Amino acid sequence: MFVVMRTGAGEAEVNGVKGLILAEGLTPFENAGADRTVIAVVGEIGKRRESLQARLEQTPGVASVTRISKPYKLVSREFHPEDTVISVLDAKVGDGSLTVMAGPCSIESRDQLLETVDFVAGHGATIIRGGAFKPRTSPYSFQGLGVEGLRYLAEARGRSGLPVITEVMEPSQVDIVAEYSDILQIGTRNMQNFSLLLACGRAGRPVMLKRGYGATIEEWLMAAEYIASAGNSQIILCERGIRTFETSTRNTLDLTAVPLLHHLTHLPVIVDPSHATGKRWLVKPLAIGGVAVGADGIMVEVHPRPDEALSDAEQQLDFPGFESMMNAITGVHAHVKDLHGDLLRATGG
Ligand code: PEP
Ligand code: MN
Repeated sequence: MFVVMRTGAGEAEVNGVKGLILAEGLTPFENAGADRTVIAVVGEIGKRRESLQARLEQTPGVASVTRISKPYKLVSREFHPEDTVISVLDAKVGDGSLTVMAGPCSIESRDQLLETVDFVAGHGATIIRGGAFKPRTSPYSFQGLGVEGLRYLAEARGRSGLPVITEVMEPSQVDIVAEYSDILQIGTRNMQNFSLLLACGRAGRPVMLKRGYGATIEEWLMAAEYIASAGNSQIILCERGIRTFETSTRNTLDLTAVPLLHHLTHLPVIVDPSHATGKRWLVKPLAIGGVAVGADGIMVEVHPRPDEALSDAEQQLDFPGFESMMNAITGVHAHVKDLHGDLLRATGG
């Protein structure tokens, strides 16, 4: 449930409400909106619901107490109606601008990364990506450069002035990855690695949570709730395709997820057409699709010589491919920008 304070309620009244919640062994999460404060009550409320609601309603400064119908609370739009905008360095995600995360699947060498970064940064990328710790299906495949890769990534940030994002695969890596990276990425295989979610929640950096390839939207939002419950609501969701009966593509890109998520949550949504399709030539049309249905941005893999790539060679864009995709999605974004509000307000449960 959440408590809506009266307009103009003061700090003492807010503290009174928080004190009552804490005394019940529950946790208050405050969302200080433009004209009034809302406080979520998080924890196992169980049978206390009605009596707790009645007591909160009688607490000074309280306007109303409302149940949150969804199992996820902090990430729900019910609790937090305004869009979350994430600021990293000079970039913003979720503010209506088009976020473009681009870079190689894996950081293979300093030269390969910097060559890519120079190109994508010069052609509209707003955030640089590159894997240093790689979750590979085979233990015999290239596993990434590890900390050496993180250092190259930090160099790429200095050179381009753009924030960087890279994957963290386990809780013990969170500190070192957070030291070098502006955004922590949690990959599809780790979406329900609850100790990793909590560790990232405590790291004080924005987190991009990719959808588990077998996860429902609700499971995905519950995973985001883990991060938020650890005190970090700077979360970006990334739809990267799910596994279905279809084998013609690496995954099936669930574009329905984009407007649906905008309806259910205040968190920004990114589409990754590279891992969704697994095919270079499908990346541009699906990037266009993602932007058209209202995604806050896209993530794509780019390599100077994709055929020589040590991972995901078939899906990485070459430089002309990136440029051509950028031209297309920039145009689409300009057309659909004003429609986003309508998409968001689409009715339904
Ligand atoms: C990635 O983006 O580097 C990656 C491994 O993607 P996913 O977790 O979606 O497979
Ligand atoms: Mn990849």
